[in-house]
Amino acid sequence: EPQLSDEFKLLLTWADEERKLGVRANADNPEDAEKAFEFGAGGIGLCRTEHMFMDTKRIPIVQDMILAETYEERTDALNKLLPMQRDDFEGIFQAMQGHPVTIRLLDPPLHEFLPDKEELLVEVTKLQMTDPNSKKLKEKEHLLRKVRQLEEFNPMLGHRGCRLGMIHPEIYVMQAKAIFYAIAKVMQIGIDVKPEIMIPLVGHVNELKEMRQLVIDAGMQVTKETGQEYDYLIGTMIEIPRAALTADQIAKEADFFSFGTNDLTQTTFGYSRDDAEGKFLQSYIENKVLPENPFAVLDQEGVGQLVETGVKLGRQTKPGLKTGICGEHGGEKSSIQFCYDVGLDYVSCSPYRVPLARLAAAQATIKREQKQPIKELLDQI
Ligand code: PEP
Ligand code: MG
Repeated sequence: EPQLSDEFKLLLTWADEERKLGVRANADNPEDAEKAFEFGAGGIGLCRTEHMFMDTKRIPIVQDMILAETYEERTDALNKLLPMQRDDFEGIFQAMQGHPVTIRLLDPPLHEFLPDKEELLVEVTKLQMTDPNSKKLKEKEHLLRKVRQLEEFNPMLGHRGCRLGMIHPEIYVMQAKAIFYAIAKVMQIGIDVKPEIMIPLVGHVNELKEMRQLVIDAGMQVTKETGQEYDYLIGTMIEIPRAALTADQIAKEADFFSFGTNDLTQTTFGYSRDDAEGKFLQSYIENKVLPENPFAVLDQEGVGQLVETGVKLGRQTKPGLKTGICGEHGGEKSSIQFCYDVGLDYVSCSPYRVPLARLAAAQATIKREQKQPIKELLDQI
């Protein structure tokens, strides 16, 4: 467990006095949120709710939800998940003590939640030989068929993010309700909450418009039940080039933008996030085809241009629109400098990178403020 020395902590407080860029953390559970808070994060910039679904006790329920044949079956599974999610959010809100918490609605690559196809195939083959008329075989065969139906060739470009919410709105409704129940509970014990609900993988403004309304309706329903009113924001990830290029339209439906530079790098280069590093990317870097790994260091020429365009267009529609970044790059020094230069309000990174991000954010401010007088001097010559 790394500890910060007193000297380093002092240095960080000096950095905080200089920096203008906010630093938040990516955290999905109360322990990480507490760690982030301890390291000086000003909030949670990304809570990936799909990580909450990975728990071994929940996986069977999540699979029931995904594989459900009927609306009732899916509702059944969702009703079981709702109180669990409410407790998840309550824990994070409590840990963050009134600082902003950005909760992203479910963004799973579906294949990560499906039963393993190879294992199923082995089971089915075995049963066909040993127990060909059994009910169990019928069930396993049925499951295998469902898994094959849901299988995708490119899961990272597939039925992920808001595309899931669009086709199965009841999943997002469950999550939105869980968030609002959690807010109500935490507010009742006197803790302030600043929730920011975030819609992932938006490529067209209509997706955001629809999902936004869904969340608002869920909020009104919970208010009716609990009598509690809430202040909250609804925003979107900008992680598809089309979203960055049409950010002026998207901003009409968004209270904030958060740049998902992992997916934005994937979709701008057309490199698979899951495969590129193990295939050609290493060779590209060694042979200087690329100066750096763009998944680690923000590619300012290409991906960065889209970030800059997104900020500019978004603020054309809504001056002062809150913007941040929550991809891996939010914790990397030169990318942080870039984020400051294009006018983002905050970066969000893993809790352990928060101290470094605070320093890098301060350096970015110092660099700009020193640049200004030098430029003025040069202009006078
Ligand atoms: C991103 O795409 O940059 C992001 C933060 O989301 P995820 O990594 O969960 O896709
Ligand atoms: Mg993403």
